[in-house]
Amino acid sequence: MYYNNETLIYLNGKFVKASETSTDLYSQTLHYGYGVFEGIRAYATENGTSVFKSKQHYQRLKNSAELINIPFNFDVDQLVEATYELLERNNLSDAYVRPLVFCDPNMSLSRPNNVSIMICAWEWGAYLGDKQLRLKVSSYCRPHPKSVKIEAKVCGHYVNSILATNEAKDQGFDEALLLDSDGFIAEGPGANLFFEKDGVLFTPQLGNILPGITRATVLEMAQKLGVEVKQGQFQLKKLQSADSAFYCGTAAEIIGIESVDDYKFPLDWSDSIGKKLQNYYSELVRKSEKVLTTTH
Ligand code: PMP
Repeated sequence: MYYNNETLIYLNGKFVKASETSTDLYSQTLHYGYGVFEGIRAYATENGTSVFKSKQHYQRLKNSAELINIPFNFDVDQLVEATYELLERNNLSDAYVRPLVFCDPNMSLSRPNNVSIMICAWEWGAYLGDKQLRLKVSSYCRPHPKSVKIEAKVCGHYVNSILATNEAKDQGFDEALLLDSDGFIAEGPGANLFFEKDGVLFTPQLGNILPGITRATVLEMAQKLGVEVKQGQFQLKKLQSADSAFYCGTAAEIIGIESVDDYKFPLDWSDSIGKKLQNYYSELVRKSEKVLTTTH
């Protein structure tokens, strides 16, 4: 599903066949979840392939690694170039790109001496589909920021996301909503939350959530549209008296939320600020900031 015999991946500066590469079973990342990754989307534009906010994603990858003491000796600009080349070599345009920084064999809990980087890409539709979501408030909370570096995109953090997703789906919901350890609204397993009340947008402040690049884009778009956004700590009851809500993330893009547990948002999605932002986002990602059309 993700690759075939011809698929190339980028591994430590070289393009190699995905089917012919392997990794060490003694990797510290495999055993302890001690690695960092990114999720990036590329779009077909009038001028060729555009990797949306590629530099911001690789910068976050670097920050994530450094925050958890994983040495990151890769150049952000070179990784951006490598991503364009990877897409071109695989004939991909509308694609999801997954860089992963993983550690050498090490069964101890010390910091690694050597790490690798791989980048792979595949075609991937909207991660949460295009139907409005029915959310379940999770029994799991997001990891406490004093237990982990919550602003880093660390492999091991995603066990929390997987538990919450499975719990929601097993109970017949589409997706989970996680609170933070103080009981304030935090985020989805792989997306940030916004909600609308009386023409104003609200979103959880940074501190207990992943600082999403799509979240930052939504803040920029809202400003351009003249929509006020309030960031803060919000109780569930505030969300469950809101007019409308949406999730945003690179994989999910912008997707409307129909309900949270048994509360159904009263405003029609087509009349919401979220819908306007969804259209705006769809245009924005297909307008390239930097497009490479050269043949490597
Ligand atoms: N929160 C979590 C927990 C995520 O995994 C993601 C996806 N990376 C997001 C939010 C959204 O982040 P972004 O917009 O940068 O993809």
